[in-house]
Amino acid sequence: MPGSFHVQRLLAWYRANARDLPWRRTADPWAILVSEVVLQQTRVEQAIPYFERLLARFPTPQTLAAAPLEELLRIWQGLGYYRRAENLWRAAREIAEKGFPWTFDGLRQLPGLGPYTAAAVAAFAFGEPVPAIDGNVRRVLSRYFALERSSPKKLFDLARPLVAAEPAEMNQALIELGATLCTPRRPACEACPLRVGCRGRADPGRYPARRGRRVREWRLTALVLRGRRGPVLEARPQGPWAGLYGPPMDEDEGRLLARFGLGPDDARFLGEVRHGLSHRRVRVRVYLARTDRDGEDPAARPLSALARKVLALAEEVPGEP
Ligand code: SF4
Repeated sequence: MPGSFHVQRLLAWYRANARDLPWRRTADPWAILVSEVVLQQTRVEQAIPYFERLLARFPTPQTLAAAPLEELLRIWQGLGYYRRAENLWRAAREIAEKGFPWTFDGLRQLPGLGPYTAAAVAAFAFGEPVPAIDGNVRRVLSRYFALERSSPKKLFDLARPLVAAEPAEMNQALIELGATLCTPRRPACEACPLRVGCRGRADPGRYPARRGRRVREWRLTALVLRGRRGPVLEARPQGPWAGLYGPPMDEDEGRLLARFGLGPDDARFLGEVRHGLSHRRVRVRVYLARTDRDGEDPAARPLSALARKVLALAEEVPGEP
């Protein structure tokens, strides 16, 4: 059990091999919070430039709290999962008003902070001995202790004593091990500091047992309406792109065209755009039509990646539709 876990070996390995990442060079809780929110569902290489741009513009929670959400979304565009941005903005406003919560329990009260992010900030910035269990750490622990299934609470209780002595570094070390050696496919057990003692090493692919995940398909129609100054753009009121702009879209093609007084023959079908979300594949049928409205310059609005793809397809069609 935890007593057999080779904490010192893992720490020594981490100190010798840790990747030099910008958020590891700071103990500023705000910078760490921003990094953790950016890193949710995002690869490290993709996260770095966003992290740097966000902190350059919003070096404190107060600076973000004073800015409109749209300004944050403009920097965030291309990163996806825009709900994170909105939550970060709301968290900044709460911090500006009440001060930075400096405990795990306090951090959990902030909008959008789940147990992983709250524990990561509490451990990295304040040294609180709580385990930050993301997918990487879950995999490492499940393999090390040969657990096919385990509840979040069980893993949390199991990991808590492991990080007790060096909360910041041990949490980082577990995350790093999962990200670089104990990877989902072909873990590098020969190079692993935990290989002695790892009960799952003989068959790492068994742990943790995979949960079946069905990827659903979501069909939409988009209408690019060319106006005098550019396409007509709408802010999405809800869903995965809430707060971002794009051409009008609807699940119901007829309803979308009718909303702009168009019949099936009044708009030109351009083709289909495909887009991947975390649990859904999106297929969008794209139509093009002309309008007397002004429209606007897309560069002036925060756009979703999907909206860009749709507009790019329409741009391939020159002149009047
Ligand atoms: S020995 Fe292999 S399976 Fe066990 S923790 Fe290390 S990399 Fe993962």
